[in-house]
Amino acid sequence: MKRILVSKCLLEHPFRYDARDVRIPELRTLLKDFEIVTVCPEVELLGLPVPRPRLKFVPDKGTLKLLKEDTKEDITQLLEEKSREFLEKVGEIHGAVLKSKSPSCGLGDAKVYRCVECEESIGKAWGIFAKELRKKFPNIPIISEKDIDLLPQVFKTKS
Ligand code: SF4
Repeated sequence: MKRILVSKCLLEHPFRYDARDVRIPELRTLLKDFEIVTVCPEVELLGLPVPRPRLKFVPDKGTLKLLKEDTKEDITQLLEEKSREFLEKVGEIHGAVLKSKSPSCGLGDAKVYRCVECEESIGKAWGIFAKELRKKFPNIPIISEKDIDLLPQVFKTKS
């Protein structure tokens, strides 16, 4: 059976930083022909609590850093390493459905802020886990929950 990786907050609650429920009830049905593998990088790989302060991308010397909003701790490298460790162990993955706009799971639509105290967004970036997933599995289809209408076509389900 093919295996689809899903951002855990789309199927289980609570995982998000603000404890908001973003589950998509029809997702399990849409993925009924697949083995579902879930992960919440922030809670399960970094051990962060729910709720938790936001993680924010900010520019730094021509690159981006991911900082905790409260302590300003730079967790870029830690999340990259934990994501790679998880992806080494997870086995074969044939597709993914990831949560949009997240600094961990977003597919190029996570906000980049001018500074960690700022609310002004100056750009968009790939979430760190999503980027590592794309590197590890360069050819699999990856969609966000915004595109689940396309899921049968993208993952070639029978429904
Ligand atoms: S978007 Fe990713 S990191 Fe954020 S709560 Fe969902 S699974 Fe966890």
